[in-house]
Amino acid sequence: MSGPVVIDSPRVSVIITIDGPAGTGKSSIARALAHRLGLRVLDTGAMYRAAAAIVIDHDVPRNDVRAISAKVEEADLHFDWTADPPTMLAWNKSMDERIRDADVNEFVSIIAAMSEVRRHMVRKQQLIARQYPYLVSEGRDQGSVVFPQADVKFYLTADVAVRARRRAEQIREENERIVDPDELARTLTRRDEIDSGRADSPLKCPDDAIAIDTTEMSFDEVLERLTRDVLALKPELGR
Ligand code: C5P
Repeated sequence: MSGPVVIDSPRVSVIITIDGPAGTGKSSIARALAHRLGLRVLDTGAMYRAAAAIVIDHDVPRNDVRAISAKVEEADLHFDWTADPPTMLAWNKSMDERIRDADVNEFVSIIAAMSEVRRHMVRKQQLIARQYPYLVSEGRDQGSVVFPQADVKFYLTADVAVRARRRAEQIREENERIVDPDELARTLTRRDEIDSGRADSPLKCPDDAIAIDTTEMSFDEVLERLTRDVLALKPELGR
């Protein structure tokens, strides 16, 4: 007797994750890698940053987790995918100008440690991947929690002094503003400590990730290295 015919449907998705501490250049690398390989890019930090900005701007009590998650849900965070990079929207308004401000930098890791907020974000990120299944997704928990089945996982690190210097240069180029690298290094360290020490989805290198220390590498070298590693595992992306 013959059994049912089972057709093994091909997987039509490629997910690449890039995780790591603050200031390792994940966003710029993710964007450049996505451009090169014809993929979309998901900046999950922007979602947590938008949530932090919403709480600050709407005077939601910072210790009221319920009120915080209700307000964040109400904002219906989503991206405008017609822009490149995609614009972060809350209540359909762009948050891009707001989410890099100093007060958001200070508060974002605190809100990102709240499990209710994380659950909401993880659900949204997984839905985005269904809509855009060819994706480079960067953050802190993308390879470990959100996309444990990702095709290629990277974990980027760099010395904190180097990260602070790179960030200071980036701020100077984008905003023509001079910032003190030592002060930046202190902020980055504080954020890393909270992100690595939290109970829910702490920042850590997944066992199956490719870990790269970028301290001594230029942007182009990092991009070349990631491209090579992806194409070795997913040669069809190079065609
Ligand atoms: O990547 P970015 O520096 O914009 O992230 C801002 C903050 O958002 C991080 O310091 C972290 O607290 C939080 N975050 C997170 N999980 C992610 C992305 C960001 O907890 N996947």
